[in-house]
Amino acid sequence: MSVLPLHSGRKSFRRWPDCPPGPWDTLVIGSGMGGMSCAAALARSGQRVLLLEQHLVPGGFTHMFGRKQFRWDVGVHAIGEMRPRDLPRRVLDWLGKQRVQFEALGDPYDRFRFPDGFEIGFAADPRSFQRDLVATFPEDQAAIDQYLRWVRRASKAAVSFFAYRSMPQWVERWGGRVQGCLRRDWWALTTGEVMDRLGIEGKLRCVLGAQWGYIGEVPSDSSFAAQALIHTHFRHGAWFPVGGAKAFAAALLATVEEAGGATLVRAEVERILVQGGRAVGVRMADGSEIRAQRVVSAAGAKTTIGRLLDEEWQQSEWARSITALPDSPAYLCLNLGFAGDLSATEAARANLWLFEEWRDDQREWQAQDPAALAPILYLSFPSYKDPTHQPGAEQFHTGECITFVPWDLFQRWRGSAYGDRGEDYLALKNELKERLLAQLRRHVPALMERVVFSELSTPLSASHFARAHQGAIYGLAAVPARYRNLHLRTRTPIKRLYLSGVDAASLGVVGAMMSGVLTAATIRPRLYRRLI
Ligand SMILES: Cc1cc2nc3c(=O)[nH]c(=O)nc-3n(C[C@H](O)[C@H](O)[C@H](O)COP(=O)(O)OP(=O)(O)OC[C@H]3O[C@@H](n4cnc5c(N)ncnc54)[C@H](O)[C@@H]3O)c2cc1C
Repeated sequence: MSVLPLHSGRKSFRRWPDCPPGPWDTLVIGSGMGGMSCAAALARSGQRVLLLEQHLVPGGFTHMFGRKQFRWDVGVHAIGEMRPRDLPRRVLDWLGKQRVQFEALGDPYDRFRFPDGFEIGFAADPRSFQRDLVATFPEDQAAIDQYLRWVRRASKAAVSFFAYRSMPQWVERWGGRVQGCLRRDWWALTTGEVMDRLGIEGKLRCVLGAQWGYIGEVPSDSSFAAQALIHTHFRHGAWFPVGGAKAFAAALLATVEEAGGATLVRAEVERILVQGGRAVGVRMADGSEIRAQRVVSAAGAKTTIGRLLDEEWQQSEWARSITALPDSPAYLCLNLGFAGDLSATEAARANLWLFEEWRDDQREWQAQDPAALAPILYLSFPSYKDPTHQPGAEQFHTGECITFVPWDLFQRWRGSAYGDRGEDYLALKNELKERLLAQLRRHVPALMERVVFSELSTPLSASHFARAHQGAIYGLAAVPARYRNLHLRTRTPIKRLYLSGVDAASLGVVGAMMSGVLTAATIRPRLYRRLI
């Protein structure tokens, strides 16, 4: 199976410098879910959009890659709100020239294993989820009910919060003041503070916060509204795109092309050109320039500021306030290939989370300590989720195991070239891979007997292939300071330069997609009706 996103058997993208002639209404930098969605939404409103991607394939974190007979989906394992009537699903159907089909991960969609053989699954409907929690922690029924009530309130408040982020700052200041009198600021509270207020502690605290890996912040640091959105996102379970993550690019880029636009890969933007305080185009890494009416950067807020803007703008209050925000953690991903009968193992459509201890305060694996174990391991089985996967006679399947690590561990190789980072880097990579394999053998021995291929990707891979700032898994950290920062919005102080992608709104594939449409609506206000 090809890892390239194809529409009706053909590619909807070209390779730089094979660029069709302008004029262009909008240039979009970065073909992640944010960039592709913004480009497709603008194309739906009649614009000619040029989408520029530095990697070999489009998709950003929704791209796929392969080794031998195995294929993996980098940043797509579980997507919520994909029932036909859910708003994100309707938006996606509208954006794509062809519809992306989804396969449910089943019920439960996420399974959690804690020490002492304690296991729990998160049910794919809200009533069963609540009932299972209460059955497991009957003494805490009142706290569980109240926590889930606050989750619903915080999620409701998020709708207007993100809409404000696409409007001029003064609208948010005034609107925010009015709302501040009416309801609690759920973004400013941490999940830990909410749990403290409700007296949630011990094992219940670990279980309620167990999905913190989807936002990259442990409860003591995460904004409660961000954690609440995860519960709401997966209220009715999780899904996976049929054909794999590339299905998104296949559907969205065809829409861009149909409206006279184009997507170019290997198209590295070096500078956003600003004249008289207004974005007028971009300069490519080879020195050529492309002009347009406006520019959208979906390359990540810090990447945009640090790599694509002139010094003058990097020193502005807007830029400094954003670069001062912390990043989400860097991550390791162990890509696994299995062969043989997996029926008696943990391999399934549902994801498996493994926790080393009953703790909810360890974000990263302190791997510099040779005795330290990764506190959290997230196991996903892409080939089980995709109904088009053909295991063949040898029963080939894939798995991915993700954990978080400090960027500092890799910092010294930051300037090195991909494929040429030196022996010491390869030695560290191999050591970490072996330690992860050993940890997994202890947790899931039967599954690990079937491993025939393994390869570790490090934060330097994310930094190289997706230009992720310091290898961050989800862009800026989902902490209260990020949401309180009024500079972080779809508009920038540079006229006709807009931001899109996860940093401009919310996290994940759906967060990036909705941010893409919000940015498009900032440019073409009639598109707001698509978000209702
Ligand atoms: C390991 C992992 C697992 C994940 N699992 C899930 C999951 O199960 N469910 C979920 O909803 N989300 C998941 N996510 C998160 C989700 O995939 C991402 O947050 C989302 O896809 C990011 O979209 P984006 O458009 O904001 O950014 P990106 O996908 O990072 O896109 C940015 C793009 O900009 C390009 N770019 C940067 N600089 C330049 C330049 N100078 N010139 C040209 N192009 C440039 C990059 O190459 C990249 O393609 C996961 C992420 C990771 C890393």
